[in-house]
Amino acid sequence: MLFDNSYTQLPQRFYTRLRPSPVSAPGLIRVNRELARHLGIDPEWLESSEGVEVIAGNRIPEGADPIATVYAGYQFGGWVPQLGDGRAILLGEMIGSDGLRYDIQLKGSGRTPYSRNGDGRAPLGPVLREYMVSEAMAALDIPSSRALAAVTSGESVLREEVQPGGVLVRVAQSHIRIGTFQFFAARQDVDALRLLADHVIQRHYPDSSQADNPYLTLLQQVIARQAQLIASWQLVGFIHGVMNTDNMLLSGETIDYGPCAFMDAFEPAAVFSYIDRNGRYAYQNQPAIAHWNLAGLAEALLPLLSGDHSSAVALAQESIDAFPELFEQAYLLGMRRKLGISSCAPADATLIQELLSLMAQEATDFTLTFRRLAELAGGKEEVKSNVSELFQLPASFDPWLKRWYQRLAEEPQDSEQRQAEMLASNPLFIPRNHLVEEAIAAAVSQQNFGPFHTLVEVLADPYTYRPRLKHFAAPPRPDQRVRFTFCGT
Ligand code: AMP
Ligand code: MG
Repeated sequence: MLFDNSYTQLPQRFYTRLRPSPVSAPGLIRVNRELARHLGIDPEWLESSEGVEVIAGNRIPEGADPIATVYAGYQFGGWVPQLGDGRAILLGEMIGSDGLRYDIQLKGSGRTPYSRNGDGRAPLGPVLREYMVSEAMAALDIPSSRALAAVTSGESVLREEVQPGGVLVRVAQSHIRIGTFQFFAARQDVDALRLLADHVIQRHYPDSSQADNPYLTLLQQVIARQAQLIASWQLVGFIHGVMNTDNMLLSGETIDYGPCAFMDAFEPAAVFSYIDRNGRYAYQNQPAIAHWNLAGLAEALLPLLSGDHSSAVALAQESIDAFPELFEQAYLLGMRRKLGISSCAPADATLIQELLSLMAQEATDFTLTFRRLAELAGGKEEVKSNVSELFQLPASFDPWLKRWYQRLAEEPQDSEQRQAEMLASNPLFIPRNHLVEEAIAAAVSQQNFGPFHTLVEVLADPYTYRPRLKHFAAPPRPDQRVRFTFCGT
């Protein structure tokens, strides 16, 4: 492993140097071979006993400089002045074949100074969930942390019940959070804020270093990236579940797959985390929560935006006020693409709104509604798949379909090209909660990792219909419905 560490160049108050705590009997679950190759890691080595020791945190590879980073955050709206990697260790950074820098982080690697009352460990179930869902997000082209590898630890972890333990190797362009900035802002440590902002600019937004006001441009670019990210969640029915400011990355990647879920039936108020009793992080609230979190970032950056406080506030406010429009643009563009609309008509927003109202009213399956529309959009209805065997649009959609067909008739594209594009932007295979739960249950209670491996492989290609995999596209039966996805990570 060829490390090239930059975060450890920052001052000591950004992190604590320490080694992962070894586990008793690591056992390989899976290596993400493609991602390993992308990072210049030999997948066969990573699967070897030496590689497994590295994944488990029992062996420190040469060049690694392990640390736990410090951050703060607003959790469910409440300020927590110090959080930090309580069960994660950043081994170091590597440069990918795309020239980008990636963090290599172990999750579940033991206690750190930031563990508070936690045990520093990860139960197997959440490790597998994060592996499956984060890789599914990446396959959907949604910026996300990735799963490089997972092992069982051979140890027990106590949550609501005793579970086998695991360690996940997480890869992200960085793990710098809004909460990292908030940590230093709360301490009025302007030097640290500046060093951190310079680090983020160099790493994620190098263009902004050329701007008149690099820190303002940084803020604007982070806001724009988050608007894109949240739009991409809304477009696939993804609910993050715990959008605290310590779970939003400056890189614009999705992170923290604790209580997340993909919706089956469309329900704007859907919540899957049982600790989210007020529905703060419900599907329909995600854009507003991102906006609020970004206001927190803007506030933390105030001392860097201008020497004069009131002009700093004005600059921050203007940047933040741009978020709803940026989100709306990204969302509308994505929705048009999902509906096979390549041009722009003023009435499109209404057409989209009417569809969503119908979907909510009839509680149709989010994913299959769009996939079905993709089939109906073509000259030949059954060309690519057979969603109709799994799902039919209710008759109440007929008047809407008529308006949609009229709209499509104004389009320059021919219907076959339109259908191909719609099939490529409306996934068929998503990590459905009941499938994720089944895969976890088989692994945890029967040590059977077959369903986990199968699901990872199915989800790696979310758009291509494969007849023998049809049941992976089906919505849950009533008895398979999962109401909560969060049970002690
Ligand atoms: P999360 O809810 O996963 O975003 O975690 C919130 C904070 O709690 C982070 O600072 C984590 O490092 C910490 N944390 C969560 N679980 C544990 C654990 N089992 N042991 C130690 N710290 C934890
Ligand atoms: Mg977190």
